[in-house]
Amino acid sequence: MPSIAKVAVNDATIHFDKLYSYLVPPELEPSVWPGGIVLVPFGQGNRPRMAVVIETEAGDDPEPRLKSLLAAAPEEAHLTPDLMELVRFLRDRYFCTWYEAVKAVIPYGAQYQPGVENGRPVVKSRMVRPVETIYTLTGTLPEKPKPGPKQLRAVEALRPGPRSRAELEELGISRATLDGLCKKGILTAQTRDRPLDLFGEVPFDPRPLTLSPEQQTACRLLEEDLTAGEPRAALLYGVTGSGKTAVFLRLIEQTLAQGRRALILVPEIGLTPQIIRRLKAMFGSRLAVQHSALSNTERLLQWRMIQQGNADIVVGTRSAVFAPLQNLGLIILDEEQEHTYQSESSPRYSAHDVAKKRAAMENALLLFASATPRTETYQAAVSGRLRLVTLQHRYGGRPLPTVDFIDMRAELAAGNPREVSARMAQALEETMDRGEQSILLLNRRGYRTVGMCQSCGHVLKCPNCSVPLVYHKPQQALFCHHCGHRISPVPTVCPECGGKMVYSGFGTQKVEEELAALLPKARILRMDQDSTGRKNAHEQMLARFARQEYDILLGTQMVAKGLDFEKVTLVGVLGIDSMLFGQGFRSFENVFSLVTQVVGRGGRAELPGRALIQTTVPDHPVLQLAAAQDYPRFYEQEIAFRRFSLYPPYCSFCVVGFSGEREPEVFAAARRFGQLLAERFASHPEQPLRMLGPTPMTIVKLNGRYRYKLTLKCRNDAPFRALLRSTLDAYAEEKLPAKAGVTIDFNSDGD
Ligand code: ADP
Ligand code: ZN
Repeated sequence: MPSIAKVAVNDATIHFDKLYSYLVPPELEPSVWPGGIVLVPFGQGNRPRMAVVIETEAGDDPEPRLKSLLAAAPEEAHLTPDLMELVRFLRDRYFCTWYEAVKAVIPYGAQYQPGVENGRPVVKSRMVRPVETIYTLTGTLPEKPKPGPKQLRAVEALRPGPRSRAELEELGISRATLDGLCKKGILTAQTRDRPLDLFGEVPFDPRPLTLSPEQQTACRLLEEDLTAGEPRAALLYGVTGSGKTAVFLRLIEQTLAQGRRALILVPEIGLTPQIIRRLKAMFGSRLAVQHSALSNTERLLQWRMIQQGNADIVVGTRSAVFAPLQNLGLIILDEEQEHTYQSESSPRYSAHDVAKKRAAMENALLLFASATPRTETYQAAVSGRLRLVTLQHRYGGRPLPTVDFIDMRAELAAGNPREVSARMAQALEETMDRGEQSILLLNRRGYRTVGMCQSCGHVLKCPNCSVPLVYHKPQQALFCHHCGHRISPVPTVCPECGGKMVYSGFGTQKVEEELAALLPKARILRMDQDSTGRKNAHEQMLARFARQEYDILLGTQMVAKGLDFEKVTLVGVLGIDSMLFGQGFRSFENVFSLVTQVVGRGGRAELPGRALIQTTVPDHPVLQLAAAQDYPRFYEQEIAFRRFSLYPPYCSFCVVGFSGEREPEVFAAARRFGQLLAERFASHPEQPLRMLGPTPMTIVKLNGRYRYKLTLKCRNDAPFRALLRSTLDAYAEEKLPAKAGVTIDFNSDGD
């Protein structure tokens, strides 16, 4: 009896992602089951497409026109039931297609694609996995004919145990010799994944961890959750420098002692080396890494190591939340407030929610940690839905840095036209003269950030995106920071009226230049996306700063968080004001977090720290609270605002985005979608919904596409998602001329 596979195909759209039925030919029968990766003939031309099997059923009486599957990927490529559960979760929660979810949970290197072999369609792995040959001694050399010296040496080398071909070749034993011995049955050869020891140079050097009394109390509470045998979630709220890492290490130790595994997520690649070093030193090499700065090969090899059960600890950025670790006991999200935990392309998932799902599947403890938690997370903790564990003091009784404001209105009135104020420059110089280091934050890269015509006011914008072009001095060019569009040479006259172009606003390149003029002796390290482009540049720069090869570390938000340098005693903040006036409902939270975090980089060891904040609004309550590093009071204000204006956690916030090449069509599509949605909710008055729009997105044109949005304040439960899904179906039926792409985003803050 033939069977039928119901599959979802690659390259579908969210409003057209159906299951298609195919006959399973007898020769593929043993390798097709739900979660299987297969190749199907698709559409009128029967072009081969990748697909994932969602269900199988007996085909007693198959429809005669049913097409057959073309091929199936090997068993190791099929999704396990656990990964399939995550795929279903992603699709249900984030309105992505089935196959987008598949591509999110499997790294690129482990995916399959259509290919052709001997004129027949086949599935091909995207990458050839690097393997090595291992030789094992399985027989004895005969006395006659007398073995040669090469053969004797090979056998001797393999007597203590199997070795790889590369190791043997290093001993001067050739492949020909080895092949000869294999033929005689004296050796056997096997292939295996080439091992990859990232950070192999870090010595295994476990030292007992002595915790402060406060850290001990925190661990005791969290260990209750860790051993509960049911899903638990907690927030470790600890001021900067309180030693959250020490708490993590103790909990990981406990997790491994229970024979379970641990997953540690960090918000940025730059923070992985720090934690990897500590984990390697403490726990040895059963540690794998998953982040986007690895090459596809490295990533694949590490992933396979996890899949085969050879890693007890996984460290990585957002997508590591899908690492196929079994028997998970602990998931940590460090710096949980960071927006990098939210994916900006489909599936637009939040690592928080996926981690929660996994903790539920595995009866694990999910631990969020931060000095400035998201308002929603802290609210969940104070209301008892998460356990709240607090570290109120810095480790070793060190004080938090003192913070002063530099009022830039006064500076300007005193006739200082520079971006770096006289007081800031003086403080930097004094710090340097004492042999200490400074961190300077400016969250804008480039040299000049806007070019405007003096006569007609025309602003030079990207032709593809509705944003100003930024002047970069090293390349003598203007760049779009969104699509990379480049204009060179830099225009000196206005393309509209021929008037004179004036460039203003300042980025890290400009400040670097100013500092060099103000403090000629200072050794300045600039760190931003432009200076860290090369592989590992980031890590090398931080290592050199740690070795005190520089006096000042100047950079964008990548210098603000998580870093721990003992000689840093001064932190300066430049150009923060524009962030205070951002659009999204999270803008205050973001400024509070950024300032508190960067201030917290100072005075973490013996030497006390201080911070200076340049601003034209020194009395702004958010800056005042950040200066006081008083998160609980900030939270009180923020939660009152969220309740009053109806924002999360008092509702779910969902942005339905529309994009296309022709603006009126995009607008019309958004409006029609809004009507369809309103009709459906009208017959479900029990389902709360407030809809705003359509309105243009803050950046209305991006990469040549116009963008509009509907903003929904809703209750994100199953009935809500069902109504949204039925709206999508109705919208797909209408075949609007715009063919506007639709995206659904539960992570947006409306900006
Ligand atoms: P946080 O992440 O909370 O800002 P860290 O974990 O980076 O803080 O710790 C701050 C500093 O205190 C680090 O230099 C760390 O080595 C030190 N520290 C914290 N706890 C301990 C401990 N139990 N033993 C030794 N040093 C510690
Ligand atoms: Zn652009």
